[in-house]
Amino acid sequence: MNYVIAPPAVSAVPVDGTDSLFPVHRIYCVGRNYAEHAREMGHDPNREAPFFFSKPADAIVANGASIPYPMATRDLHHEIELVVAIGKGGANIAAARALDHVWGYAVGIDLTRRDLQGEAKKAGRPWDSGKGFDRAAPCTAIRPASVIGHPSTGRIWLAIDGTVKQDSDISKLIWSVPEIIEHLSGLWELQPGDLIYSGTPEGVGAIPRGARVTGGVDGVGEIAVRIG
Ligand code: MN
Repeated sequence: MNYVIAPPAVSAVPVDGTDSLFPVHRIYCVGRNYAEHAREMGHDPNREAPFFFSKPADAIVANGASIPYPMATRDLHHEIELVVAIGKGGANIAAARALDHVWGYAVGIDLTRRDLQGEAKKAGRPWDSGKGFDRAAPCTAIRPASVIGHPSTGRIWLAIDGTVKQDSDISKLIWSVPEIIEHLSGLWELQPGDLIYSGTPEGVGAIPRGARVTGGVDGVGEIAVRIG
């Protein structure tokens, strides 16, 4: 059988230190998963069940890229996040077994058109235009868990043109990686190739046109992209 139009390329992220690629199936994101970020967004960081949104797999942008300033926004925000790469799928995965499903980790930026997200929130509409737009998911190469283990502590930070804007520690995740996987896999059957952006700490803000955005998670990687 032939495709009637050219099939899309497989979205993928490099594996650190190799010439291999990790194919991306879906991109899930966790909302408000650090207390100080929940507060800065005007919410009470009580431990209500985690909630999720998603980005298209082809929103991935390679580390080091220059990203055109996204269309239809005047308030592009940065959210630095630990990214979890799922290597083994499953539904209703218990937290105690969840790390068996993790292939590796990366550092990502959950780029957000905050003005469009804000309008959607106000109108009770979906977040897709604010979160799931083209090139909204810069991501570093993945470091395998077989090499770095499963990080649960370590500095997470982001800087704009060298000035640090976000500076926290992944130990402050409200929902830990195993707990995220337990909840997420109760809503979707996870598949190999799924990525999970695990949430951002406080200090989110606008990215000026032309800015160089850098960030990292200790032991996982460092990211650098230019916007505009
Ligand atoms: Mn986020």
